[in-house]
Amino acid sequence: MKILVINCGSSSLKYQLIDMDGEKVLCKGNCERIGIPGGMITHKTADGYEIKVDCSFQNHTEAFTKLISMMTAGDGAVIENIAEIDAIGHRVAQGADKFPHSCLLTEQVIQQISDLSELAPLHNPAHIQGIRAAQKVFGADLPQACVFDTSFHHSMPPKAYMFAIPYEYYKKYNIRRYGFHGTSHRYVSKTCAKLMGKPIDQLRIITCHLGNGSSITAVDHGRSIDTTMGMSPTGGLMMGTRSGDLDPSVVTYIAEKTGEHGNEFLRVFNERSGLLGVSGISSDNRDIERAASLGNEQAQLAHDMLCYQIKKYIGGYIAAMGGLDALVFTGGIGENSDEVRGDVCANMEYLGIKIDEEKNKTKGDIVDLTAEGAAVKTFIICTNEELMIARDTKALVEVDAMMHTKKVAEPEA
Ligand code: ADP
Repeated sequence: MKILVINCGSSSLKYQLIDMDGEKVLCKGNCERIGIPGGMITHKTADGYEIKVDCSFQNHTEAFTKLISMMTAGDGAVIENIAEIDAIGHRVAQGADKFPHSCLLTEQVIQQISDLSELAPLHNPAHIQGIRAAQKVFGADLPQACVFDTSFHHSMPPKAYMFAIPYEYYKKYNIRRYGFHGTSHRYVSKTCAKLMGKPIDQLRIITCHLGNGSSITAVDHGRSIDTTMGMSPTGGLMMGTRSGDLDPSVVTYIAEKTGEHGNEFLRVFNERSGLLGVSGISSDNRDIERAASLGNEQAQLAHDMLCYQIKKYIGGYIAAMGGLDALVFTGGIGENSDEVRGDVCANMEYLGIKIDEEKNKTKGDIVDLTAEGAAVKTFIICTNEELMIARDTKALVEVDAMMHTKKVAEPEA
């Protein structure tokens, strides 16, 4: 079965075609600057072919048409025609409390995703555009599935997802913690259990997804019981450009002082804060580490703040779960920064966490960092949200086919 995984933003469309027989990525790419001048497509195949072409896409439908031509013709071709694609899996950011699991696409599902746009104005409308464009280009009969960033956190108890504000705001406006990066936390926690050779329902795992956007999740016996991001992906840890959690008075006080309000004002916390805001240099962790090593004090402060916050959340989640069996680092920073991992794990022996300095310098998709004798296993596990989306899509399509066969067969029985 070949599955096309789609992650649609308002002006971008990332794709991967995965052959589920061996879970092999046949090709992947990105259509950038959709609907704005300067569009381009990057297309890579499994055997190393790579091309970057300027092309203008008026909309997502045109982007799909272009990526299909890349996949089916010329040196980047990996299939003969689109009939070889068995299903599409879409990443959807916000499923709120409506979608505890991934599901097959129906008109009702599209409506519900659209209704949730108020909670994810930057993401859900773009996903709908992608879904509609895919229906247009591939036909309404091709099965499509939606895999939500929020579903994995559906298992959080109210004491973890409620904010301590008047209850009526939860009832009236659905204000609560939803959490994000769920597909990544689910993938790496499952992989961690496999590596440990134990059922996930016997393990307490903390998964640290650290990238431009970052979140940490307490996975207690296979279920997310708490996570750092909140109602939106701005909450929790400081990130590349996002502030993370703040005292609400900071927000109102800045508004009062600067006279800024509304969406423009929110950009302060989403686009001008985090590593960028504190360092004044860059949102990119590599730039921060480089500048700090050259003596830049604000860069050093940004690094120290990040590691301190991660450490505090780890400590809190160990307390919440009553112990820890494994700690996982993933995301661009988690997978690549030995400095962040080293500083986060320093002086944690009393909690059972100790990483081996030499192993911490190793690169790889999966690295066991655990120092000899440490009670808690620590791993780097490269995340693979696309594969998780493809696996969910395959499972949903197969169950649906089975039920359909049963329904068809029933009258004869
Ligand atoms: P996104 O959240 O956009 O998917 P990524 O998961 O790709 O982001 O993470 C990007 C972050 O990872 C950047 O801050 C980048 O500096 C950091 N990063 C990537 N490689 C390294 C490295 N070798 N050392 C330190 N940080 C790195």
